[in-house]
Amino acid sequence: MKLVLASGNAGKLAELRALLGEGFDLHAQSEFGIADAEETGLSFVENAILKARHAARASGLPALADDSGLCVDALRGAPGLYSARYAGVHGDHAANIDKLLRELEQVGNAERGARFVCVLALVRHADDPLPLLAQGVWEGRILRARAGSGGFGYDPVFFSPAHGCSAAELAPDVKNRDSHRGHALAQLHALLA
Ligand code: IMP
Repeated sequence: MKLVLASGNAGKLAELRALLGEGFDLHAQSEFGIADAEETGLSFVENAILKARHAARASGLPALADDSGLCVDALRGAPGLYSARYAGVHGDHAANIDKLLRELEQVGNAERGARFVCVLALVRHADDPLPLLAQGVWEGRILRARAGSGGFGYDPVFFSPAHGCSAAELAPDVKNRDSHRGHALAQLHALLA
């Protein structure tokens, strides 16, 4: 099946290609000159579907989209949908972490729970009334300072109790398998089997 990925992110493309395996011919939307969709939804699910429909409409092909972020209990789910631009500039991970640590300065250890969330949406065509949806969650808590240098985004301040270290201290293959994205991908794979 020829499929468009509603993202220009090369890392995501490689990860998804490996997981989907043979039978799926996945192409980044940038290959077709398709610009990013406006993410106007109020949930990860809505934004993943918006992105997938946008790519399907522009390409005329089935499309897959992912939407992910960090939800912190003490911040009522923020930064959530706005994780990439929490401090104002899209993708400024250092500033995003600084802001998060500041916001949680007065929050005690027992109240620092958080989770990474990833939703994947696959539409067979732009008006598909029944998108395939997969959702992955990774439970953890927010550290008081950075630890580790791997991964990206909020990884250095996300402590995973299941692994006993920060997400930035995990080997990449372990993170890919056990992360929110890994779980969502495995679920999608099962739906497609
Ligand atoms: P996107 O859906 O790839 O644009 O991700 C949204 C934002 O959520 C990223 O820019 C990061 O700030 C955060 N995020 C999503 N997944 C991860 C992860 O695996 N580690 C760290 N941060 C993440």
